[in-house]
Amino acid sequence: MKLFDTHCHLTDSPLAQDFDGVLQRAANFGIKNFIVPGYDLTSSRAACRLASANPSVYAAIGLHPGWISPTTDFSPEPFRQLARLRAPVAIGEIGLDYALKEYSANRQAEVLRSQLELATILSLPVIIHCRRAFEPLYLILREFSGVVGVLHAYGGGPQLAEKFLSLGYYIGFGGGLTRPQARKVRETVLMVPSKRILLETDAPYIGSHTIAKGESEPRDVLAVAQSLAGLRGWDIGETATLTTANALRLFNLITD
Ligand SMILES: [Zn+2]
Repeated sequence: MKLFDTHCHLTDSPLAQDFDGVLQRAANFGIKNFIVPGYDLTSSRAACRLASANPSVYAAIGLHPGWISPTTDFSPEPFRQLARLRAPVAIGEIGLDYALKEYSANRQAEVLRSQLELATILSLPVIIHCRRAFEPLYLILREFSGVVGVLHAYGGGPQLAEKFLSLGYYIGFGGGLTRPQARKVRETVLMVPSKRILLETDAPYIGSHTIAKGESEPRDVLAVAQSLAGLRGWDIGETATLTTANALRLFNLITD
C-alpha cells in the first residue's frame, strides 16, 4: 500500500529534529511520499533542500498569508529564482486568511494574485490555504483559469466545495475527517468526485480525533484514509491507490 501525505511541514519542529524516525514510522504505516510546502522564503528554501536530499519528498514554495510583511512589498522574484534552481512541484502554501487577528484583505489578495501569476508562468499547480475567505478566494482563483491546485485542509461544506471543483481544483482532507463531530467535512467528502480527493496531515499542526494539535506526523494519513474509506465504502487498498494517483496527477509526478 502506498499513501501520499500531500501536506506536511517536515522542516518544522518537532518533525525536523527526528526526520529519519518520522519517515520510518510513516513507511511502517504505508505513507511513502510527502509534499513539504513552504510558507515564506526561508521555509521554502528548507523544503527544497529536504526534497533534493530525499527522493520521496517533494517541495512547494510560496508565501502564506500569515507571513506577509506589513511593511515590505512582496516580490515574487526570489521565489522565481528558487523555482528555476530547485524545480518545486507546486507554489504553496498561498491563499487568504481572514481569521488572522490583523490582516489587510487587499494586501492578501495582491500577494495571492502575484503568486498565481508565478504559478502560471512556471506551469505549476498551487496549494491553497484559506480561512474565512472562501468567497473572495473563489473570485480570485476564477481569474486564473489556467491554474489548478488543491484547497488544503478543507473545512467547509459541500456547496462551497462545488464551486472550487468547478474550477478544476482538488480538495485536501486531513485530520478533521477523523472527527465524528466534523459533520460538514464528512458531508463534503461524500460528494467530491473520487478523482479530486487528496490526503494530508498538515503535520505537526492539525491533529486528529486521537492526536493532539502540534503532535501529528505523516503516519497519521493512514487514519485519514481509513475514515475516507469508511465514509465512502471503499477498502483501504483502493483508497490508497486512488488518492495517491490523484496526487501524482495533480503534481505532475512520474511514478516508478
Ligand atoms: Zn500547512
